[in-house]
Amino acid sequence: MATKPKPDGVTETCNHCGRETTHDVRVEIRTESKKRENAEFSREPYRISVCGTCGAETTQRMNNA
Ligand SMILES: [Zn+2]
Repeated sequence: MATKPKPDGVTETCNHCGRETTHDVRVEIRTESKKRENAEFSREPYRISVCGTCGAETTQRMNNA
């Protein structure tokens, strides 16, 4: 069990800091239903990473890779 990194705390490059920082990463399923008439609402998985240094939040849709 030594190969797995900490569940919260991913080292990524922060565009705001301009260097690699520790990010708190989580995944949220967000329902997109902007228009009422559009009964077709899609549930999209989003990857949200928050920079532990500056607090910048990066939201990224995960599907349609
Ligand atoms: Zn940052």
